[in-house]
Amino acid sequence: MRFRYSDTLMEDCAEIRSEIIETCLWLLEEHLVIGTWGNVSVRLADGNILITPSRVPYEAMQPEDLVVLAPDGTVVRGSRRSTSEREIHRGILNARKDLNAVVHTHSAYAMACCAIEGGIPPLSEEMAQLLGGGIPLTRSFVPSERHEELGRMAVESLGSANALLLRNHGPVCCGRTLGEARVCAQSVEKAAKMYLHLRGAGPINVLEEQWVRAGRTYFTDAYGKT
Ligand SMILES: [Zn+2]
Repeated sequence: MRFRYSDTLMEDCAEIRSEIIETCLWLLEEHLVIGTWGNVSVRLADGNILITPSRVPYEAMQPEDLVVLAPDGTVVRGSRRSTSEREIHRGILNARKDLNAVVHTHSAYAMACCAIEGGIPPLSEEMAQLLGGGIPLTRSFVPSERHEELGRMAVESLGSANALLLRNHGPVCCGRTLGEARVCAQSVEKAAKMYLHLRGAGPINVLEEQWVRAGRTYFTDAYGKT
């Protein structure tokens, strides 16, 4: 089942909860996450945040497993613990009123870019349009269990961009709607793949011309005779 993804903020209802669960299953399908890694949140019409729970496999996730947080982080509804990465979502949604959905993935190419310096520079018009340009990288590694520090660093690094890379961790992808955040997650992974291809392995030691000629001559004139 595919949803249309409403472009207005929704009240907490069955439809938005289903959209989040469907997004989680889509993340698995697209290989943007494995296991219970990754998490999703949206801003609701009343300003609260609907977010995925901690440690519930996506295939088993039920609408009532999702958690509603107030902007200050207190639990409004839900019996589950919200994702341990909630401070990334809360920090971004509180700081950026133009964004209403956050998707954090552990996709392979973007994670590779989380392990090299410099983030991903703007490489295409697509990146400019969907991501607002390049993708910044947080300046230092913060382990996930240091929730608040990780959230602060994510907000600081995001600036006015729509996506960021958490150093040695994974990408955070945002949008005005959940649909946009999903496209952002795909676009970030594509940009990371392009960047790694373009960067390559760094400087390459090409065989010097004299050795190219010597090798060819050896093969045509002397191979099998010495
Ligand atoms: Zn993560």
